[in-house]
Amino acid sequence: MSFAALGLSEEIVRAVTERGYTEPTPIQAQAIPVVLSGRDLLAGAQTGTGKTAGFTLPILQRLSATTKPASGKAPIRSLILAPTRELAAQIEESVREYGKYLKLHSMMMFGGVNINPQIQKLRGRVDILVATPGRLLDHVQQRTVDLSHIEILVLDEADRMLDMGFIRDIKKILALLPRQRQNLLFSATFPDEIKLLADSMLNKPALVEVARQDATAELITQRVYPVDRERKRELLTHLIKEHNWHQVLVFTRTKHGANRLAEQLGKDGIPALAIHGNKSQAARTRALAEFKSGELQVLVATDIAARGIDIIELPHVVNFELPNVPEDYVHRIGRTGRAGSEGEASSLVCVDEHKLLRDIERLTKREVPVVQVPGFEPDPRIKAEPILNGQNRGQQNRGGGQRSRSQTPARSGGQLGNSRGGAGGGKPAHHRFGGRGR
Ligand code: AMP
Repeated sequence: MSFAALGLSEEIVRAVTERGYTEPTPIQAQAIPVVLSGRDLLAGAQTGTGKTAGFTLPILQRLSATTKPASGKAPIRSLILAPTRELAAQIEESVREYGKYLKLHSMMMFGGVNINPQIQKLRGRVDILVATPGRLLDHVQQRTVDLSHIEILVLDEADRMLDMGFIRDIKKILALLPRQRQNLLFSATFPDEIKLLADSMLNKPALVEVARQDATAELITQRVYPVDRERKRELLTHLIKEHNWHQVLVFTRTKHGANRLAEQLGKDGIPALAIHGNKSQAARTRALAEFKSGELQVLVATDIAARGIDIIELPHVVNFELPNVPEDYVHRIGRTGRAGSEGEASSLVCVDEHKLLRDIERLTKREVPVVQVPGFEPDPRIKAEPILNGQNRGQQNRGGGQRSRSQTPARSGGQLGNSRGGAGGGKPAHHRFGGRGR
C-alpha cells in the first residue's frame, strides 16, 4: 500500500517520500482514512508505531483542503495536546516537515520557557497548535489564545497525560472548544480513566489498534546483567567500552541518580549528559541534539524525561535501575528496536531488584536471559535492601529524594500482558541468580 492510495494529496506524499518513508505503518494505514473521513478516532498505539504521522498527515490534508481566506486573522483550527515538551516539539517538527509544501502554519507551546515569544507568535497566523496542557491554560488565562475555532482536537499519549495529573487541565481545555469538532485520542493503554474520558469526548469513534512495539518485539534483544548495587556504574562503563556501544539511552529512577551517573561516566571517559525535568529546556534540547548526532555517547534519563525521545534506530537502552512500575520497563525498551531496526535492552540488576524483575517477567510473559559478566559476579553476602522513594538506601545517603514517576501508582488495565508467547512466566526470577561462580 502507498501513501497516495490512502487518499493523501500529492504535496503531502512528496514530503513523506522525501522523509524516506515508502509505505504507511499499520497504524497509519488504519488511522489516516478514518481521520480523512472526518470521524472521531480512538487509537491504541504507543510511540514507535508511527502514530504521529498517523494523525498529522490527515490533519494537514483536511486543513489544507479548506484553507481559510488570508484576509483577517485566521483562527487556530487544530489543537494537538501532548504530555511533555519533548513530545510536543517532535510532533510540531513532524507537522512542519510533512506540511512543508502546504500553506499551513504551526506552533508549539510548552512551559518552562518565557511566555512572551509565544504570545508574540500567537499574534501571527497559527493553523495548528501543539501544546502541553499547563502552558496552554496559562495562555487561556492571559487571553492570549483563542480556542473557539478548533476543528480537530488530538490528545496524544492520553494515558501519560492522565498519569502526569493533567486530567483537570484537559477537562478545562475541552470546555473551551466548540462542540462541533473532530476528536482523535491516542493512548498506549486503556485504564478506566481513559475509557471514561473517551466516552465523554468522542462521538461514535472508529477504533484502531495496533500491536504494541514492546517486549514482544523480536527485534529487541533483552538481557539481564546481575551485579552488586555499588558496582553498577563500573559494569556499565565496562559494557560500553567493551562492546563500543554508541547512542546509549540509560534510565535511572531519579533525577539525582541521572545527574550523578552522567558525571561519573564522564570521569570514566564516556561523554554523557543527563536530561530530566529540572534541566532547562535549552539544556535538554542541546543534550538531545548532541545525542541524536552521535556526538554524545550516552544520554541518562528519567522515565518522564525520556518520553517522546524520537530517534530512529536507537541501538541501546540500558536500565541502570529497573523501574518500580513494570509497564515502564516496556515503555523504556520500546525505545529501541523500532521501525525495523534491531536493538538491545540491557538491565543491570542487583539483589534489591529481583522482585521488580519478577514482576516485569510476569507482565511480559517471558524470561529475560541472564548474562553474567566475569569479574562482576554478585557477592552472595550482600543482602537485599528495600527500594525506598525510588532509590536504594545507598543512593539515599547521597541526597536527592525527588519524587520520581516510578513512585506513581501502577496504571491499571490496558492491553499489556496478554497474547504474549514465550517461556516460563511463572518461574521466580531470583532462582536464576546464584551469586558467585555462575
Ligand atoms: P512515532 O510512533 O510517531 O513516534 O514514530 C516512530 C518512528 O517511526 C519515528 O522515528 C518516525 O520517523 C518513524 N516512521 C513513522 N512513519 C514511518 C513510515 N511510514 N515508515 C518508516 N518510518 C516511519
